[in-house]
Amino acid sequence: MYARAGLHVALFERRKNIDASKNFCTHFIQSSAKPTLDRLGLTHALEEEGAVRNSVRMWTRWGWIRESGKRHADEAACGYSIRRKRLDPILREAALSTPGVEAWLGCPVKALLRKAGRITGVRADECGVPVEARAPLVVGADGMNSRVAQFTEVDARVYPNNRIGYFSYYRGVVMKTGTESQMWFLDPDCAYAFPNEDDITVLAWLPTRDSPLHLGERPDHDLRQIFSRLPDAPDLSAAQPLGKPIVAKRLVSHNRTPLEDGVALIGDAGMVTDPLWGSGLSFAFQSAEWLVDATRVALKKGLDPMPGVMAYRQHHGDRLSGYEHHMVDYAQGRRFKLLERLFYAAATRDPVVADSLLAYGARNITKRELFTPDLFFRILRAGIGAPTVSGDLMNGITSRRS
Ligand SMILES: Cc1cc2nc3c(=O)[nH]c(=O)nc-3n(C[C@H](O)[C@H](O)[C@H](O)COP(=O)(O)OP(=O)(O)OC[C@H]3O[C@@H](n4cnc5c(N)ncnc54)[C@H](O)[C@@H]3O)c2cc1C
Repeated sequence: MYARAGLHVALFERRKNIDASKNFCTHFIQSSAKPTLDRLGLTHALEEEGAVRNSVRMWTRWGWIRESGKRHADEAACGYSIRRKRLDPILREAALSTPGVEAWLGCPVKALLRKAGRITGVRADECGVPVEARAPLVVGADGMNSRVAQFTEVDARVYPNNRIGYFSYYRGVVMKTGTESQMWFLDPDCAYAFPNEDDITVLAWLPTRDSPLHLGERPDHDLRQIFSRLPDAPDLSAAQPLGKPIVAKRLVSHNRTPLEDGVALIGDAGMVTDPLWGSGLSFAFQSAEWLVDATRVALKKGLDPMPGVMAYRQHHGDRLSGYEHHMVDYAQGRRFKLLERLFYAAATRDPVVADSLLAYGARNITKRELFTPDLFFRILRAGIGAPTVSGDLMNGITSRRS
């Protein structure tokens, strides 16, 4: 985006291979990122690679919450599901082919350069040979273990996560919902099924640490047993697992704000959120766009970009802190609170409540935009007294712990 704005960008990427990708990710890109993908001209490339236009249906013990039909997955405002194996090379290729980008692949950042109390560039390592680049702004876009953030003085907050994530890839899953994803909130354990390109579906099981149900020595068997109890579960009779499940045992969330001038953090480098909600990718795309828009004019004019960086941080907080608080709180593995119970119950009965809830989940409206007086009234009217449709779905499954 900077290069498209006419700026000269030095891009340092740790991985040498243009096809390298992140393994720990279930790659559900929320529709809030769609305008950014459109602006980057990536939508066509994603669809060519078979990306599934996504939307999600949520189950709680009051029943299914689904879109009312006013906004469908095939409309302009969809998100995408595509494995990182496909997504990451598309992004890298797009960056490398943009005039103005000078890329060093296989060249990890090893240190930050400073002058007069300000960060002025990076030192990277190209096969043992140090490379230096100086710039008015260093952007840390290097993920959750960001070296740029580690080398910078930051105000950091770290939040624990009381769930363990088991993520398995299957080919041949038949979803009752077609290409629409499903999430089951068993309060507090969770499951989801996300269809992707090439008939590959991610099945995820996210129990709390103290849940009796964890995957054991036979993960495929255990996962099938769990999924067989879920309402409107996908048909797994012809499904084949593609390798062993990915197990995320130490999930944490964090938020980092640099305290030095000359640096900004985007994506996971700045904020990592609970993967349960599938939001990190859309936040990464959107935060990149917000930073570029807040700083590109100053950078073009050769002015100090820091006022723009401050404006970016403010905007980031305004847009994302409400989601972050909710995700951090729910990552404790707690049961639903009273307002959530009413909200989920109401969303099964009132399409306006359902659409609002799903728009919040897709990160298209903030918490502040969500809770209008009208919506509160609807939640109370439809939520109070709504009947539950099931008891303990997992009752009777043998407890096991890995
Ligand atoms: C189990 C799990 C499931 C998830 N599922 C979802 C989901 O369904 N939907 C969703 O939206 N999010 C999901 N996420 C979160 C998502 O993966 C991240 O939010 C997203 O990858 C952040 O993008 P990023 O560009 O900031 O970082 P990354 O994707 O991590 O990219 C960082 C880049 O920086 C490079 N790099 C790292 N260090 C250096 C260095 N020192 N020098 C140079 N380059 C460096 C890396 O090679 C990489 O190319 C999940 C996360 C986990 C853990």
